[in-house]
Amino acid sequence: MSETVNPTLLFAALFAAATFILAVRLRRRRNQADDSASRAIREGERADRESARADRRAQRLDALLDATDDAVLRVLPDLTIRAASPASKEILAREVEDLRGRPLIEATVDHRLEELAREALNGSVARGEISLRDLRPGHSDEMRHVQVTAAPDGDEGAWILLRDLTEIVRLRQIRTEFVDNLSHELRTPLSTIRLLAESIATASERGDVSGAKERAAQIEVEVLHLVQMADEMLDLATLEAGEVALRSAPVDLLALAQETAARFSPVATRHGGEIRVEEIGTGPWVVPGDRDRLRQVLANLVHNGVKYSRPEGRVTIRLTQAAAADPNPCVEIQVADEGIGIERRHLSRIFERFYTVERIPNETPSVGGAGTGLGLAIARHAILRHGGSIEVDSTVGVGTTFTIRLPLR
Ligand code: ADP
Repeated sequence: MSETVNPTLLFAALFAAATFILAVRLRRRRNQADDSASRAIREGERADRESARADRRAQRLDALLDATDDAVLRVLPDLTIRAASPASKEILAREVEDLRGRPLIEATVDHRLEELAREALNGSVARGEISLRDLRPGHSDEMRHVQVTAAPDGDEGAWILLRDLTEIVRLRQIRTEFVDNLSHELRTPLSTIRLLAESIATASERGDVSGAKERAAQIEVEVLHLVQMADEMLDLATLEAGEVALRSAPVDLLALAQETAARFSPVATRHGGEIRVEEIGTGPWVVPGDRDRLRQVLANLVHNGVKYSRPEGRVTIRLTQAAAADPNPCVEIQVADEGIGIERRHLSRIFERFYTVERIPNETPSVGGAGTGLGLAIARHAILRHGGSIEVDSTVGVGTTFTIRLPLR
């Protein structure tokens, strides 16, 4: 007996099987799609958490930069500045907002600094000293000596710490020059004293004491010169280092001018000259300042005026009233002489320490002996410390005028 398959049943069975398989496949595919969607969501959430954490870390690092007194930059791997401490402005002459996002090379104009930053980005700590052009307006011909330490920031960027050594280098240089000048300036009087002492000793061995008195007097002059130099060097060193605060009390410049004129008048009149005090305007002549320092400055200028005067030359101390409308009112004090004058080429240098102008013999000052070349350096430093200024103008054979301006406030 042959069995016959009912085609309808067979079709129904096949249809049911196909539907079942399709449903199973569809479910599997849906499950797979659900899986990858939830994985993507989880990864997205993790990435969000990571980026929020990175943001918080960056904010903490930026807050650290805000709090530091040092000049510190944070740079990104592409060598742009991510953040800068407020003190960076001192060295880079740009506001923090202006530094942010700027390429390092553009903000610092220094390839060596960029190299150090690159080393730090590659994972090592790099150190060096660089000379940066002073980027402040009006200072472009000055250089700043900056010590750099660059280190990885633990993220993907780098820290750059900048320490301005300009002042330290300047003081180091002053000290070296000072010692050089000092040994040079001491040698001349000391060898003169030695020669004079030797000649007294040799003569006295022969029983000859005739010139001993004059030579002893010459020794005394040289010793006084050395003492003066020692005092002035101490003054200059103190003023230059800025370590000692100047006193600030009302100083009557008219009284000071009259006192100085009286002090040097006997020397001036001995050579037929005179010292005058002139007032242009009615004052006020009282400025805040250190009376002893200002007296020292005025004495130096008036003494020079008398020293470098021609016979019968007059020295005038002139006080000029500040213009009432001046936003920074000041008193002007001029010390003008009718002396030998100073050649133009020396004018910019006479305020340097130990700078003296070589004179042809018959122009050598006959009053007061040789100077130390320190007086004007001291005067300049003292006036600058008062917030004032000092200038010189001179015509050879006609005379010299020093002009000091001191702020009234
Ligand atoms: P010094 O103690 O040698 O006078 P200063 O520093 O006071 O040192 O002055 C420096 C130099 O400037 C002097 O050596 C002198 O050549 C010159 N000088 C200063 N004042 C005058 C002046 N009034 N007239 C001419 N030359 C001057």
